[in-house]
Amino acid sequence: MARKSAETKKDSSSRIATSGQDLVEVKNLVKHFPVSTGLIASLVNRGNIPSVKAVDGVSFTIRRGEVFGLAGESGSGKSTIGRLVLRLYEVTSGQVIFDGIDLKTLSAENMRRMRSRMQIVFQDPLASLNPRMTLGQAIEDPAQIHMPELSSDERHQRVLNILHAVGMNPPESFYNLYPHQISGGQRQRIVLARALITHPELIIADEPIAMADVSVRSILLDLMMKMKKEFDLTYLFITHDLATAKYVCDRIGILYLGKMCEMGDLHEVYDHPLHPYTQALMAAVPVPDPLQRRTTKMPEGEIPNPINPPSGCRFHPRCPLAKEICSQEEPVMRELRPGHTVACHFAEQFLPK
Ligand code: SF4
Repeated sequence: MARKSAETKKDSSSRIATSGQDLVEVKNLVKHFPVSTGLIASLVNRGNIPSVKAVDGVSFTIRRGEVFGLAGESGSGKSTIGRLVLRLYEVTSGQVIFDGIDLKTLSAENMRRMRSRMQIVFQDPLASLNPRMTLGQAIEDPAQIHMPELSSDERHQRVLNILHAVGMNPPESFYNLYPHQISGGQRQRIVLARALITHPELIIADEPIAMADVSVRSILLDLMMKMKKEFDLTYLFITHDLATAKYVCDRIGILYLGKMCEMGDLHEVYDHPLHPYTQALMAAVPVPDPLQRRTTKMPEGEIPNPINPPSGCRFHPRCPLAKEICSQEEPVMRELRPGHTVACHFAEQFLPK
């Protein structure tokens, strides 16, 4: 597929060196959301405004052409990271580098152009489609913004081609329908079509099948993988579900309370999980075979309050292996096997003998 113009692709003044084939580099990303408090509370706090530490020093790379998964419970910060990568939120600190360009350095106009190269698919397709727009108009909308060089006939044809590619056939029969006139699975295809219309390089898929009927989930995942090949895509795949991640991801990062706790090639992490939180997440994945049904539950307790996260290792109040040091010293990410990093003081005990 033809890519966009050189003007859209590069902003040479902002280019910085990136390693190898990385399309995205996230460096020490921090996002704190200030919490609005009343006058009295702010006087008591002496002007120190509390904040939700949604993302707190996360680093990873996404290689061109791979599916990089971000997994964790609700509140782990994974969706916030997706929005930071697209610069839908401004970072508190840290960098998102896309194809060698630090997104923070782009003007609003250059960032708007850059967005044609990176699109997002949200989990709720009904909420992300305008009920007053036909499916054709919804898909065409990003092309109108990002591809002014196309004539209206060319845009129309492009919409029909994309509808065909995502399996909405015959495309003409769907063009003038409204979102409420099709099924949930079809709506998710439309959202994917809208993301593809500008031929992006990166798609951030934020729980893309979480709201789909169980019967169509694997069909949608297969479609996403087919589109990946056809459109030469790279995915950041955000999910709370490790079974889904196993189906599509090449590498995975496990997040807990705004911190990365384990990261590596998918099979490496699944075969040798080194962090107690990853082990708990994996033990809680249901097994389809009734004879082997697992009953393991997640560790007791809720994810702690991100306004005031636990000291040391953030997982220590729930960790069955926690020792004194865990509440005192934050573990750093260490590479314990090739390409496999983990942030736990005691992860060595889980290394295969
Ligand atoms: Fe558990 Fe301590 Fe490891 Fe954290 S550092 S995961 S509390 S053992």
